Amino acid sequence: MFYRFLILCGIAAIGLINCAWAEEIRLNDHLTVLRVHDHNIVQGQDANGTVFHLLCDFRRDGHLAGTPGIEFCYIGKNEAQYVADPLGAYWNYHAEKGRFEEVAGTSLVPVAAPKGTVIVGIVDGDVLDPNRNKIHVIDTPGITRGSVSYYADIDGKRIVFCGNLIYGDGGLVNLYDLQDVMPVPKIGGYHGYMARGLKVIESLEKIKALKPDKLIPARGPIIENPQESIDKLIGRLRAVYENYVDVSALWWYFPDSMPLAARLFSGNENLEADAIRRMPQAKLHENPPWFLEHATTRVIVSENKAAFVIDSVGDGSVKFLDKLIEDGTIRKVEGIFITHYHWDHTAKVPAIAEKFQCPVYCDENMAPILESRDYYHMPCRDAQEFKTQDFKTMKWNEFTLTSCFFPGQTLYHGALFIEKEGERPIFVIGDSFTPTGIDDYCLWNRNFPGDNEGYLYCLEKIRKMEPRPLLVNQHVIPPFEFDDERIDYMVAALKARREILATIFPYAAPEFGNGVGFGVDSIWARFEPYYVSAESDRTIRLIVRNHADKPLSFYVDWTTEDGQQHSELLFSDVPPYGEQTQPFKLPQWKPEPGTVSPVTATVRCREIPSLEKGVETMIGH
Ligand SMILES: [Zn+2]
Ligand SMILES: [Zn+2]
Repeated sequence: MFYRFLILCGIAAIGLINCAWAEEIRLNDHLTVLRVHDHNIVQGQDANGTVFHLLCDFRRDGHLAGTPGIEFCYIGKNEAQYVADPLGAYWNYHAEKGRFEEVAGTSLVPVAAPKGTVIVGIVDGDVLDPNRNKIHVIDTPGITRGSVSYYADIDGKRIVFCGNLIYGDGGLVNLYDLQDVMPVPKIGGYHGYMARGLKVIESLEKIKALKPDKLIPARGPIIENPQESIDKLIGRLRAVYENYVDVSALWWYFPDSMPLAARLFSGNENLEADAIRRMPQAKLHENPPWFLEHATTRVIVSENKAAFVIDSVGDGSVKFLDKLIEDGTIRKVEGIFITHYHWDHTAKVPAIAEKFQCPVYCDENMAPILESRDYYHMPCRDAQEFKTQDFKTMKWNEFTLTSCFFPGQTLYHGALFIEKEGERPIFVIGDSFTPTGIDDYCLWNRNFPGDNEGYLYCLEKIRKMEPRPLLVNQHVIPPFEFDDERIDYMVAALKARREILATIFPYAAPEFGNGVGFGVDSIWARFEPYYVSAESDRTIRLIVRNHADKPLSFYVDWTTEDGQQHSELLFSDVPPYGEQTQPFKLPQWKPEPGTVSPVTATVRCREIPSLEKGVETMIGH
């Protein structure tokens, strides 16, 4: 029997931020769960009188862990460094490299322990408080690479403290934290859509085998029917992956890895490749003679031998243009169009623009991310900055070029529509689709799931084009064609995935406004810029995007340099599918040379307790 009662927030006493109340669930005389907002904070006192806290992973979701008065904070050994030294181990690396990479779990904002707390790294098999509560440690990677769980038998009931592995009855707080490398099918971190979902499933099976009576997760309600809730989540994760595989672009790039990935996720080790459901491949065509290719670069060659270049990767693209000039195929380059900001499409753009003294074009929605490397936290950023201009439609020699917003592979993505009289138009869509489907493998690319957003927007745009153009993805040599049948297939798959995700994310229920997008948008709340130099203006922007179909309001919790904790309703009635921006004053501190100072805050939805996000920016030099 657990005792539940409300604690009138003695905020200062327990060091929590302005919460109206907290609930305490006393498991026994020495082990307690504090429920604050949506968090379950597990703390106890061992037989030696030491007050301890159990942390399952380093995500900021555990940020309320830092209660003053806690002497020991237990966390998995591989993650202890992030909590013990949040200014060093995580952030310095993150500022220099991590924020441009995609495999280091950088969408996670680490918790900071309060001064004086001893961080104790624990490993599978450890028994904490052996003379009293006998709390067993088990490795349960998934939500992070080194996350752990704890279990203890209390009054004859087995309780598992499982961190963020599950939320409520078969849910999860988001999907984007599962992005990672999949070593066995040899899929890298950038392409590893919900890769750690496999670990989540394994870890849930492990917990299930313990035959728990209750699960106490890091967030959300206590789970009273563990077996049933775990089975639901496993089934849903498998369904999402099966849906993803069905329409994945990766069948084109990694045909050998996909069957293995699908098999691993299915839980059926005998699943044969030809039994995996997938969209029939689109029809392939040939490039017209005036359209040349080298790596991600495409060159439109006019009859007068002027050239218009699309994207550029390494030295090879420059040499390719040099060679075209040398052999008389082209005389000069008159413009460059960037489809999107990923480095494999931009690396030599400044060099080419300089050499040929030609303008650089992109869709207007992409200009900010190209013009400042410090604005956003997005993977595969080019660390260069670009000066760009936009156009809607222009006549260029015998061609008509139209620049479009095309939020495919990433939200900040454009496409170039090329018309030449008497020929089938070509639509250069960057990395958005391959003949096998959708390039949505990176959950940090902000693929919004709404009817008029992301891939659904792109597919409807292609559907409306008359005549239907040939599609060009520069990683795919032959142009290809999406007929109505393919478009219908992908639209149906994306809508079906949205339905499954709505059952997983606790904030995506109809009564909350169907906000599935919150779970697949790793920066629905964000600071802009993401990196601030010590000399620049300390008033930056905090931006919240509302993925629900009803207005929502948001609190922001943060600590100022004087140590004061604040909680204010900074965002009122953010419109459905819209954004709101508020100024945010950063502290005046200056980081030590060679280091950065992170500034973090938590954005919490007023109407939906399960909807919360850690946000961060960094003050550097
Ligand atoms: Zn790309
Ligand atoms: Zn690319």
